[in-house]
Amino acid sequence: LMQLSIPLNFIGFVYREIRQGLTDIEDMFNLLEVEAEVLDRPDAKPLAIAQGAIEFKDVHFHYDPDRPILKGISFTVPAGKTVAVVGPSGAGKSTISRLLYRFYDVQQGSITIDGQDVRDVTQKSLRAAIGMVPQDTVLFNDTIAYNIRYGRPDASNADIEQATDVAQIRSFIEALPAGFNTMVGERGLKLSGGEKQRVAIARTVLKAPPILILDEATSALDTTTEQEIQAALDVVSKNRTTLVIAHRLSTVVNADEIIVLKGGEIAERGSHAALLDQNGLYASMWNRQWEAIQAEEHLRQVRESD
Ligand code: ATP
Repeated sequence: LMQLSIPLNFIGFVYREIRQGLTDIEDMFNLLEVEAEVLDRPDAKPLAIAQGAIEFKDVHFHYDPDRPILKGISFTVPAGKTVAVVGPSGAGKSTISRLLYRFYDVQQGSITIDGQDVRDVTQKSLRAAIGMVPQDTVLFNDTIAYNIRYGRPDASNADIEQATDVAQIRSFIEALPAGFNTMVGERGLKLSGGEKQRVAIARTVLKAPPILILDEATSALDTTTEQEIQAALDVVSKNRTTLVIAHRLSTVVNADEIIVLKGGEIAERGSHAALLDQNGLYASMWNRQWEAIQAEEHLRQVRESD
C-alpha cells in the first residue's frame, strides 16, 4: 500500500499544482478583463534588463479598425524615473499600460525596454520584469497571505509582513479575526477598493520588479486612504522605472514628466509646474479637480455642522 500511495499522492500533488496554475493564469486574464491575444515568437528570447528604460516610438493602436485609440505616440521613461499619463476619460491611458504589458500588439511603431522590442521577448520574462498595480485588483478565493505571496511564491512570512508594512495594510490584516489566514475573494471577506489596492501593492513589493505600472483607481478614495496609498506607492516606485496611469491628478505632481493625452495624441508634456504655467488642458483639468475637491470638502463641513 505504501508503494502505491506515494505515486498517488504525487500525482495528486502535480494535478493540484497544474490546476492551480491554470486557475491563476485564467484569473489573471479575467481580472485584467482581457484575453490572451498575443503569442511568443518561435525565436523569442528572455528580456535582458539592464536599467529598465522604456521607449514608445510612434505607437499606433486600435481595438477596432474604425476607431483609432493611439495615433503616433512617442515618449520615453528613463531608467528609474516616473512618467505619468493623464487625459480625459477614454483617451487611451490604460491602453498604454496594456500595450507595455503586451496584452495587445501595436499596429505601427514599437515599444522597447532597454532596446528590446516587447514583441521579440518571451511574455513570461516581460511580465516577470513588470509589476502591475491595477485599477481594480480581483483577489483569489484564498487567504490574504496567499494573495500577497502570489507576488513571490517563495517569500517567507517575515517578507510578507514587511511587504504589508510598506503597503500600510499590516495593522488592518492583523486586526482581522483570522489575521493573515483570513479568507478573501468572492467567497471570503470583501475588501474595499483601497484595501484591495494595498494588497496589490504588498504583492508588488514582494515581487520587486525593475519596472512598475501603476494604474490608479478611478473611484474616489477618502483623503486618508489616498494619502496612505500614495505614501506606499512613493516607497515602491523609488528608483524603479514607473509608468503611472493617472485617472485623478493627485499622484502626478511629483512625476518627472507628465504626458497629457487627447484624441489619441500627446497634447502637452512637461513637469507639473511647467504644465500649470502653460495654462492649457492640464491646467484646466487641474483647476477643475481642485474645485471638485473643495466643493466636496465644503459639503462635508456643512454635513458635519448640521
Ligand atoms: P478612463 O480614464 O476612463 O479609465 P482611459 O483613458 O484609461 O479611460 P482606455 O481604457 O485606455 O481609456 O480606453 C480607451 C478607449 O478604448 C475607450 O474608448 C474604450 O472604450 C476603448 N476600449 C478599451 N478597451 C477596449 C477593448 N477591449 N475593446 C474595444 N475597445 C476598448
